[in-house]
Amino acid sequence: MKLLIATNNPGKLAEFQELLADLGVELVTPAQLGLDLDVVEDGVTYAENAAKKALAFAQASGLISLADDSGLEVDALDGAPGLYSARYGSPDGTKLSDGERRKYLLSKLQSFPRPWTARFHATIAIAAPNHQLQITHGICEGEIIPEERGTGGFGYDPIFLLPELGKTMAELSMDEKNRLSHRARAVMKARGMLIKIFAP
Ligand code: IMP
Repeated sequence: MKLLIATNNPGKLAEFQELLADLGVELVTPAQLGLDLDVVEDGVTYAENAAKKALAFAQASGLISLADDSGLEVDALDGAPGLYSARYGSPDGTKLSDGERRKYLLSKLQSFPRPWTARFHATIAIAAPNHQLQITHGICEGEIIPEERGTGGFGYDPIFLLPELGKTMAELSMDEKNRLSHRARAVMKARGMLIKIFAP
């Protein structure tokens, strides 16, 4: 049995591969299957987008498929960029690089007093070709800082501080990030279903 990890984001993919390694199931990617689906993320919740992606990939591949939709919610910005984290700072559709998006976010925060409290939110959808669907959520609380620290991870990791560790997400090893991240917490909640399907 194979599980399709329905993402083309190399950062997310590497994390899922490690988070799911002990399940004893073969993980495959859209690229390995030659699947190039363009699923428009037009939902108004993370769950809608994750479900849409997981169902589209499950139907196209005939495999159980896992998709996530995630984002960074900054309190001073009323929860932005949130659902639009991947497209933040590019309303016309031209996608900024991760570094450009971090700079854009910091420019938006300059006039607000610190601490800039924030959280990462991940929603995972696991879909079967017969439309069965499970959705789980994970949250990781932290704070945005004005200077980048660390070289690990991806996206907003270098400016996302975990105050209790005194480290940014980008200063953690993959193992450490996978013990406490939003994505790890959502995967933890989905493990029961995955074990039922793949190791009954
Ligand atoms: P989407 O789930 O593909 O819509 O993209 C979510 C976006 O949120 C990513 O492109 C990143 O910018 C950001 N994001 C989600 N998870 C993380 C994370 O673990 N670290 C840093 N940024 C993240």
